Amino acid sequence: MSRSFDAPFVDSNEADILSNALKKGEKMTREKDELAWLKAEHHLRTLRRVSSPTSTTIELEGKKVLLFCSNNYLGLANHPLLKKAAISAVETWGVGSGASRLISGSLHLNQKLEEKLAQLKCTEAALVFNSGYTTNLGVLSAIIQKGDLILADRLNHASLIDGCRLSRGTFRVYRHKDMAQLEKLLKQRKTSQQTFIVTDGLFSMDGDIAPLPELVDLAERYDATIYLDDAHATGVLGEHGGGSLDHFQMTSPRIIQMGTLSKALGGFGGFFCGRRSLVDYLVNKARPFIYTTALPPSVLATGLAALDLIEKEPQIREQLWKNRAYFHKKLRALGFDTFESETPIIPIRVGESDKALAFSEYLLDHGLFVQAIRPPTVPEGTARLRVTLMATHRLEEMDTLLTQLEAGGKALGLL
Ligand SMILES: *Cc1c(COP(=O)(O)O)cnc(C)c1O
Repeated sequence: MSRSFDAPFVDSNEADILSNALKKGEKMTREKDELAWLKAEHHLRTLRRVSSPTSTTIELEGKKVLLFCSNNYLGLANHPLLKKAAISAVETWGVGSGASRLISGSLHLNQKLEEKLAQLKCTEAALVFNSGYTTNLGVLSAIIQKGDLILADRLNHASLIDGCRLSRGTFRVYRHKDMAQLEKLLKQRKTSQQTFIVTDGLFSMDGDIAPLPELVDLAERYDATIYLDDAHATGVLGEHGGGSLDHFQMTSPRIIQMGTLSKALGGFGGFFCGRRSLVDYLVNKARPFIYTTALPPSVLATGLAALDLIEKEPQIREQLWKNRAYFHKKLRALGFDTFESETPIIPIRVGESDKALAFSEYLLDHGLFVQAIRPPTVPEGTARLRVTLMATHRLEEMDTLLTQLEAGGKALGLL
C-alpha cells in the first residue's frame, strides 16, 4: 500500500467500512486504499463538529468540553472588541473585496494593517497575505531560486517545507536547533550560492524557541539570510508581543520574517515583514499574493483591532504566561515528559500513535479536548498530546485537566 505525506480528512466509520472491504478483497480505488492504510496505522484524521464560539469551553459533537488545543492563545477569537470591529467594517465596507489587490485597488485597511505590523515587528515594511500558509508559499518561492541553498530545521512547519519545495532551491535539513551541524552545512556551500536559513521562531509541536542569537551569528559569518516563521510567537513572545526577536530583544538586517493574524491575534490572515524593496518585489513576484482575492474588510479590521489590543492590554499576555508557569510546573511534578517546551505550547510525550489517540480519547470521555499529534506532523515514535494554554483558562480548568492527565497517564502506563 502507498503512503502519502498529507493525511486526508474523512469520517472514521467510513474507514471501518473501507478496511472491511479491503479484507474481503473488493476492488479498491487509490484513495480508498490509502484511507484503509491510514486507518490501520492509526494515522487517519477526522473532522469533529463544533457548534459554539471558540472559548475555553466549546460544544464538540454536541457535548460541552474544555478546550486545550486551540492556537487562540490570548482568547481574542471571540473578544468583544474584535467582534465589534468586524461588524462595523461589514456595515461600512461590505463583506467581500471583489478582486486581487493589484486588479481592483487595495482597500486602505490593508495599508493601515501593514503599517501597524511593520511597527510591531520593527521592520521597514510589511505585506498582508491571505493566510500564514500562503505567506510561506508565496515568499519562499519568490525569494529563493534554483541553485540557492536552503538550510532548514528538522522540525519546521509543513508550510515552510512546502514553500521551500516550491522554490526549487537545494534543500538540506539540520537536526533540531543543532548549530554545529548547521555550521557544517554552511561550510559546505558554494560561495556563489545564496543561502537561506529557514526556521520556526516558536516551534509549533515542541513549544521551544529557536536560538536566534546563534543563528544570526552564523548568518553573519557565512553571509546567509534567515527566514523566520513567527506564526506562534507573534502576540505571545516578547515584552510587546512582537514575537521571537522581541523575546531576545534583538533586531538584525539578516532576518526577514512572517507571521499570522489567525493564532494569538484571534482573526485571520498572514503577513510578511522586512525591508521595503523586498515587499515591493513580493507584490510583483509572490503568486499567492497576486493571484488571489484580497482579504475581506472585516478580516482586516479585526487584525487592526487585535494589534491595538495587544499593545494596550499587555496584561492578557502576562496572564497567558502565568497560566503557563502554573500548569507546566504541576505537569512536571506529576512526572510527564514535556520535551523542551518553554512556552504555552506544552507537548506531553506518549510515543506510539495508537497510545496518543487512546489518551486523547480518554480525556475527551472526561470532557477535555486535547489533540493527539501523530506522524507525519511529528517524527515517528514521538506521538504526543499537545496542550495549548490560553490566557482565558481559569485555574480550576487547568486543575481539572491535571487531574485527568494523571489518571489517564497512570492507566496508560506513562506515569
Ligand atoms: C499555523 C502556522 C502557519 C500557517 O498560518 P495560517 O495563518 O494558519 O495559515 C505557518 N507556520 C507555522 C509555524 C504555523 O504554525
